[in-house]
Amino acid sequence: MDIRLGNGFDVHAFCEGDHLWLCGVKIPHSKGLLGHSDADVGMHALTDALYGALALGDIGTHFPPSDPQWKGAESHIFLSHAIEQVRAQGFRLANADVTLICERPKIGPHAGAMRARLAEILELDMTRVSVKATTSEQLGFTGREEGIAALATAALVAA
Ligand code: MG
Repeated sequence: MDIRLGNGFDVHAFCEGDHLWLCGVKIPHSKGLLGHSDADVGMHALTDALYGALALGDIGTHFPPSDPQWKGAESHIFLSHAIEQVRAQGFRLANADVTLICERPKIGPHAGAMRARLAEILELDMTRVSVKATTSEQLGFTGREEGIAALATAALVAA
């Protein structure tokens, strides 16, 4: 059985703002997230997990931040591209697990909507998509609320 695992990690800094995008869901917050695209740190980590499982580099390989056409881009473009590569190489995504690391905003109330949105983009049953969160106990840059970090794991199986 041909199984491929990939991991992804991403960080975005907070900036002035009144909302942010996390795993495809717009969340009102007292800060925004800084980034070339929409700075959806969770979706970026998941996208990199898919590329990683295929040994196809990372988001920057496929969507260079130096290219102005990706400025302000909605991150579902990146994730959709990655899942297309999965299918093109003869695999399917068995499951994905995303962990968001932040003190605020609180993720729990939005986790269901995030799972639903990711599952929609990935064309996957929601039971195969996990979004969870942890704080870093007020330690480090996430603890000081300077930014949000995200981890993701993806498992691919031969289609
Ligand atoms: Mg990013």
